[in-house]
Amino acid sequence: MRAECTACGAELKMNERPMRYQCACGGLLRIVHDFSQVDSERLKRVFDERRGLRNCLYASGVWRYKELIAPELPEREAVTRNEGNTGLYEAEPVRQYVGAIRRLHLKAQSENPSGSFKDNGMAVAVSHGRWLGYTSFACASTGNTSSSLSMYAAILGKQSVVLVPGSEVSPNKVLQTVGYGAEVRTFAGTYDDGIRWLRDHAEEQGCYVCNSINPLRIEGQKSIIFELAHDMNWQLPDWIVLPGGALSNAAALGQGLSDLYALGFIDKLPRVAVIQAEGASPFHRMAARGSQQLVPEPKPSTRASALNIGHPPSWPKALRMLEMTSGVTAAVSDAEIMEAKACIDRSGIGCEPASAAAVSGLRKLVREGIVSRDETAACILTGSMLKDTDALREFHLEGKWRASELASQLMNPIRSLA
Ligand SMILES: *Cc1c(COP(=O)(O)O)cnc(C)c1O
Ligand SMILES: [Zn+2]
Repeated sequence: MRAECTACGAELKMNERPMRYQCACGGLLRIVHDFSQVDSERLKRVFDERRGLRNCLYASGVWRYKELIAPELPEREAVTRNEGNTGLYEAEPVRQYVGAIRRLHLKAQSENPSGSFKDNGMAVAVSHGRWLGYTSFACASTGNTSSSLSMYAAILGKQSVVLVPGSEVSPNKVLQTVGYGAEVRTFAGTYDDGIRWLRDHAEEQGCYVCNSINPLRIEGQKSIIFELAHDMNWQLPDWIVLPGGALSNAAALGQGLSDLYALGFIDKLPRVAVIQAEGASPFHRMAARGSQQLVPEPKPSTRASALNIGHPPSWPKALRMLEMTSGVTAAVSDAEIMEAKACIDRSGIGCEPASAAAVSGLRKLVREGIVSRDETAACILTGSMLKDTDALREFHLEGKWRASELASQLMNPIRSLA
């Protein structure tokens, strides 16, 4: 397995220790595959056959596409909890909400085993770490990354370590991680300090780091677009819309689309829209300026906790993806996000606040005429409704997000029988 630096082009081996997370020049790494021997038509048939499987590695919605993700990884090293295989829905209230475009699909990554799309990438990263002989897995995060990491470590009976800045421990977010058995450790500093500490000390501690700069995470997350394309019989919609925080998902979407196009699985690239929360939108602001240089936001602030990131590490890859797909960006307010979430919840699909940013952003793009009503779109719903039950309490019981008439209509307070 090989990687190349996206900044200087240096080549690195990825099948030996120590694991490399970045190039010596500081650039992001990208896994490179030799697809010259791939027979796309044969592979399509293989993928189709695997969709009928159950209870085996290739029944996974990630490992089904192993040939395009980690062909060299020995099968016995791959860990799975039947991740991927998420539903693709057409919800009429949500289609109406975004402005009655021709067709809208929702890809519910919330149906992953730990409740978010992080499982698509984590299954591959943890498997890669196991292949290299690591016995401990670490990240600096309290959100869905740490839940996913600790779930896979628990399945393997291995240790997981999660670093949390002392000032940011919110029991609400770390409990799932605690339940899976991770060692959660607080420290004085920021997330960036935590990631730096891991970069400098993980190896001596025998630890494999699973934060999103790990290029294997990106390889695994490519399966989201592979599965979506497969579900749609390799005919993607005009637009794919997703929320952007650390921008790993945007980067993975770009790599996945580029693979599918190069191999002839799809004959046209969809346009991609990355939606950020207004209070944490450095990528959107860069794109709106027409700039190629991201200016970090020192104090990001949004209710959509999974998007509360001021310095998204994968922005250079996300920018390349935008250029490749003639993509666009948008930013939406927390009130808009919560209104869209209430609509998605009410449609019976449900999601966490960060995911609703995609739907809210699509509604904005339709209103601005950037997405036209006779186009089709798919929104990636990244995480589960149960990840943030406080958001439900705030909206429905406390009336905290009643910023619009529609939000008031969607409120569903609990009333006494009498
Ligand atoms: C991680 C996450 C995001 C943001 O994805 P990035 O790859 O960091 O841009 C959005 N929604 C949910 C639910 C997440 O867990
Ligand atoms: Zn480099």
